[in-house]
Amino acid sequence: MSWSIEKSAALYGINNWGGGYFRINPAGNVEIASAKDKAGLDLYKLIQDLRERGVRPPILIRIPNLVQDRVTLISNCFAHAIREANYTGNYSGVYPIKVNQQRHLLEEIVDFGKENRLGLECGSKPELLVALAFMDTPDAVLVCNGFKDVEYIDTALLSQKLGRQTFIVVDRLAELPLIISSSKKLNIKPKIGFRAKLNSQGAGKWTESSGARSKFGLTPSELVSGVELLKKENMLDCLELFHFHIGSQVPSIQSIKTSIKEAARFYTELCAMGATMKYIDVGGGLGVDYDGSGKSDSSTNYSEQEYANDVVAILQAICDERGIPHPNIISESGRALVAHSSLLIFDVLGLNEVQKRTLPFALDKKDSLLVKDLHYIYDNVNQKNINEFYNDLIEKKSDTLQLFSFGGLSLEQRAKAEDLYWAIATRMTAIAKDNPDAEDIYWNLQKELSDTIFCNFSVFQSLPDSWAVKQVFPVMPIHKLNQRPERRATIVDLTCDSDGKIEHFIDTDTGQNQGYLEVHDLVEGEPYYLGAFLTGAYQEILGDLHNLFGDTDTVHITINDNGSYTVDHVLQGDTVTEVLSYLDYNRSELLEMVRKATEQSIAKGNLTHTDARLLMKHYEEGLAGYTYLED
Ligand SMILES: *Cc1c(COP(=O)(O)O)cnc(C)c1O
Repeated sequence: MSWSIEKSAALYGINNWGGGYFRINPAGNVEIASAKDKAGLDLYKLIQDLRERGVRPPILIRIPNLVQDRVTLISNCFAHAIREANYTGNYSGVYPIKVNQQRHLLEEIVDFGKENRLGLECGSKPELLVALAFMDTPDAVLVCNGFKDVEYIDTALLSQKLGRQTFIVVDRLAELPLIISSSKKLNIKPKIGFRAKLNSQGAGKWTESSGARSKFGLTPSELVSGVELLKKENMLDCLELFHFHIGSQVPSIQSIKTSIKEAARFYTELCAMGATMKYIDVGGGLGVDYDGSGKSDSSTNYSEQEYANDVVAILQAICDERGIPHPNIISESGRALVAHSSLLIFDVLGLNEVQKRTLPFALDKKDSLLVKDLHYIYDNVNQKNINEFYNDLIEKKSDTLQLFSFGGLSLEQRAKAEDLYWAIATRMTAIAKDNPDAEDIYWNLQKELSDTIFCNFSVFQSLPDSWAVKQVFPVMPIHKLNQRPERRATIVDLTCDSDGKIEHFIDTDTGQNQGYLEVHDLVEGEPYYLGAFLTGAYQEILGDLHNLFGDTDTVHITINDNGSYTVDHVLQGDTVTEVLSYLDYNRSELLEMVRKATEQSIAKGNLTHTDARLLMKHYEEGLAGYTYLED
């Protein structure tokens, strides 16, 4: 049967999760477009070009165009919803810096957001310091969340003197007296927000614990105390903003609606208590469709436009009911702005195959009874006896291991028995494939028979959520997509950690995970590249140095309207020396220590001068090199 790029597209679900940014071109390569209707950039050709420039896989690619498109998209969705509903408040987004703090990305976001008054959200003092330096968009807001000390509060207050519209959000009631006293000390009127603990919660993997147990936010009774304290201080007019955040990647629109309803009630009640509220900040949570299914925690059952429509409609209805002016809406979408803009490309180093399409030996008279029995199954398994023979196979497998442990089987015989096991398993899957009575056998064996491919990257550095919370990212080959992928494989990374692997892949049709990825045969001497997509949110900063694999080479690529591209930045990944220095190892000390060891060996006559020089040369080059495998 012939294969086609359409079949690949359906298999990997790229048209479902790709958001129009990722698709397969007629050459069978993945291409990236800055928007659905724009010309695409051939990702495989890009990698070849980059390698010629000395950029080494694994390569992290960031595409500013996609950030720009997302920023515009979400602003436009709110603008549209507001216009259609005759809503009288306005909308502005704030980008939560913690989602991806990389400098160039932040600069791009601020720059692309100028038109739409996109502001920034900081969750810590260091993030505030970055925001103050990098954002000066007129009318954009700066939202300060997170744990606050006096220095954080003072800096936020003083930033108003730079013309910034800085809101200090009270996440814990204890912060309010600090804000009041700083404001008196500096004689600056604060712009205060209250964050509430909602009873409604998100759903999915990143649900904030709700109600009284959530980490941040004021309980209803604390909200009341807060209002009273401000009244007493004659500062109630400083309370302008109401904030909540129900967690990231909310898969279902129902949870979003429920939380907005509850929040809108809080808002109108604060107004009723005399606060001159102006803003409602609906937090983050707008999801990204990682698997294209519309029906899993890694997906969303709503579009960005539906999200905006619902936020606007619910606020409008509840405020109208109470005769309260419509608040200006702020949202803190992070994931939805940047997830699409980064992808990681890595190469496959090798493959561990357990399938045996042929048996590598012939049966010998002297072979053990066990091997002979297995050989009988191998020769005679068919549609009719498959269930019975499968049970025999399982039993013989266990016998093999037992006999070997008790010394009843030589290593040579055990090797033959195992070769037979895999050859039978391979043959049985082919027989079981179209047999409805043998479906279980088929799936059991499939799982066992998938190959393991060794890949040049670290899950812990580049896809930490895949390890930490079993988040699934779309992973697929970026070329050869006009050929049928003949193999099923799971992925292991370069680390020595048994968790350094990917064993869950998206299944767009069902929204369930599948235990393998379809890949092509490896061709000797030809690189084979896989891409992990939608990695722009959270992965970069959560990544760690497990086994001392450092930052990968990173490039920023702008796609031009005709599909050509410009390399904006090339950021070299960490050298071994750099990674070691994070842990306080010093290059010259290391060199000195190894040099001393060579001198001692030379003195003892165990090492020649030539070998010593060679060892030192490798050592120095190793320190200067990439932490990943280089060819
Ligand atoms: C992390 C965080 C966000 C970002 O959420 P996303 O789901 O990535 O949009 C927004 N607001 C607050 C308070 C956060 O802590």
